[in-house]
Formats: sequence, structure tokens, C-alpha cells
Amino acid sequence: MMLAEIGATAKGGCNRQALTDEDKRGRDLFVEWCKEAGCIVKIDEMGNIFARRAGRDNDLPAVIAGSHLDTQPTGGKFDGVYGVLSALEVIRSLNDAGIETETPIEAVCWTNEEGARFSPAMIGSGVWAGEFDIEYGHSRADKDGKTLGDELEQIGYLGDVPCKPDNIKAAFEVHIEQGPILENEKLQIGVLTGVQGMRWYDLIIEGQPCHAGPTPMEVRRDPCMGLHQILASLYKLIEANSPWARVTFGDIKTEPGSRNTVPERVIVAVDIRHPDQSVLDEIDASFHEIVEKVCQKMKLEGTIKDEWISPAVKFDSNCINAVQDAVDLLDYSNMQMVSGAGHDSVYVSRVASTSMIFVPCEKGLSHNEEENAKFEDLEAGCNVLLHAMLNRSKV
Ligand SMILES: [Zn+2]
Repeated sequence: MMLAEIGATAKGGCNRQALTDEDKRGRDLFVEWCKEAGCIVKIDEMGNIFARRAGRDNDLPAVIAGSHLDTQPTGGKFDGVYGVLSALEVIRSLNDAGIETETPIEAVCWTNEEGARFSPAMIGSGVWAGEFDIEYGHSRADKDGKTLGDELEQIGYLGDVPCKPDNIKAAFEVHIEQGPILENEKLQIGVLTGVQGMRWYDLIIEGQPCHAGPTPMEVRRDPCMGLHQILASLYKLIEANSPWARVTFGDIKTEPGSRNTVPERVIVAVDIRHPDQSVLDEIDASFHEIVEKVCQKMKLEGTIKDEWISPAVKFDSNCINAVQDAVDLLDYSNMQMVSGAGHDSVYVSRVASTSMIFVPCEKGLSHNEEENAKFEDLEAGCNVLLHAMLNRSKV
């Protein structure tokens, strides 16, 4: 709640976008708390923060946990922040209980997870995991042309530690679910087995512009007449793969965009998701077939451009089991599930054994100033994180 005061919005949310003055104040507070808890704090070249609590053998690989402190422009109090502070709370709890662990433990804050100010999302963990190089990371610019590298320097978080994994035994991330499943099922903990695959496309359908009045319907080459058939077929395809397949047409544009002209072109942003990579591949193939068939029939030109591909992620079985054992030990109601949203753990899992823990959030709302979660659920998630980390770190 103290962190939520930094960048607080009138509607009870947070606007603490990456590398703004608010983000700096949030980071400063986190670092101060970590130092108070006896941690050694390191900042890497992407501004990722690693706060380390020493173990008995500091040459052993570390067990890490974290998430992000940046928010959407109209974000909530819990998305990301909860995961960072839970890791700190694990460290504080070990201090309070006087427990020494075999391996070091680290609380991590990843830079620019949201992608709201600098695209793409999850860039701090992405560079760390080797998905992007450091030059690419630093050169990302916001809409005013300010680069991520310059802004890191500006707020004092351009560190000199190389941005790459350094001896990691296991990585965990606890997060609010950002969807309604746990709340609807009246369950307290989601044990995550992976993150669903996502594909972003631009669908472009081209026809022939003509006058909206004199041109009979049957002679038109109207891209919208093709589009509505493509949308209907895609919704049907997704329904046939329910409940896990998802399709979203979040942005539909016509050109030239005049009320009394049949458009020459429609451009549609398409987002398709499924947790199983083979099913996602099948849906991708069917999507291409549908567009080809409809456009041929309607004498239109259809093009599908890949915008972004994020393959389905399967988390590490040792880490999943560590979470499941912790949940069972603490006797919390739970289910195994996959994440519908992307998280830093997607990239972290490419280079380290990783898994995630979800807790319910009110009405499944997130990326929303009204985002809310019950303290008892947040506490439960944090307890699970503690025991999962101890499982991998050994007491
Ligand atoms: Zn998040």
C-alpha cells in the first residue's frame, strides 16, 4: 500500500510507468527496504534489481523470485508489485525466523515488464534471458523519442552488472491471476504449469473502392463483406477449441475510411492464444485456410502478416512440484492452470528452472485502476512462495 501511494491515481490505481520519476521513487523504496533486510543490492545494465540474502554456501546457484514494479498508465496496485514485494517478504520472514538457507535467495525487480512506455513488453527479463541484445534493449524509445538507455541513466538505474543469468537454481514469480477463474472456482491458489502460446497478426483484406450508393451489392469487391465471413469462421474455430482457445480482434481499421465509399482495404489486429503449442499451430493453419478460401470466393486479396509469436511455455517440473508441495503442506484450495497473460517468467524460463503462483483478484480485473485482491489471498500466495523457495534452496 505504501508503494501504491507512488503514482497513485484518483480512481485508486497506479500510474508508475517504466523509468519515470514515479518508477524511480518506487525502485528507491524497494531498494531501501531490501537493504534494511540485510540484502546486497545489484543493478544490471538493463536496470533489473537483484537483492541477495546470503546463504550458507554462496557459490551455489541462487533461488530467485520477483516480478515488476512498473504499471500501465491506468494500472492497479497489485500487478507485478505483489510479486516483487512477496519475494522481499520471504526474505524478511526468514530473517524474523532466524532461518539460514543453503543457497542464496534473491528478490528481483525486472525493468519495463508492461511495455506501456517502451515496446516490447518484458524487455528487462528478455535481455537478461538472451532473447534481445543489450543494444536493442537500450535503444527502445518511448513516444517522445526518449530511449530506455538514456532514461535508465536519468533515474540512476543504469547498472554495471552484465545483464545475463548468473548461476540460477530456480526462479519463481507470484502474481495476481488477472482473470476470473480462481475467484469463480472459489480457490485460493493457482499452481501454474505454463503460459499459453500467443500469436499476433495483421490481417489485411483488399478489394475495390466504389460509391456506396449506385454500386449494387452483388458486384462489389468489398473487404468488409469478406471480413465478416472470416470473423464468423474464426469465432467458430475458436469455439471448437474451447475453453482454452482465445481470439481477439482488438483493432479494425478501414481505408480510406469514408462513410459513403466501399473501403479499399481493412486492416485487422488479430490475437490468437492457446496453451498447447500443437493446437495453436493447427489454429494458425486453419486461420490461413479460412482467409484464403473466403478471399478467393469474394474476389478479394487477403494477406496475413505475423506481428509477434510467443510459443507456449511449459514450466519446470521441479519448480511446479515445489509449488504444489507447498500448497498441499499449507492446505490451501488450489488448481493447476496456465497463465493467459505474458509475464517475466516466460523469458526467465528459457534459461532457468521456473514456475509461477497465482492468487485470485476481484472479478478478474487487471490493467484497471479498480484492480483488487484480498489480503488473506495475498498472504497465502506469499506463504506458498516461501515454502517453494525453501524447497529449492534447502534449509
Ligand atoms: Zn504483471
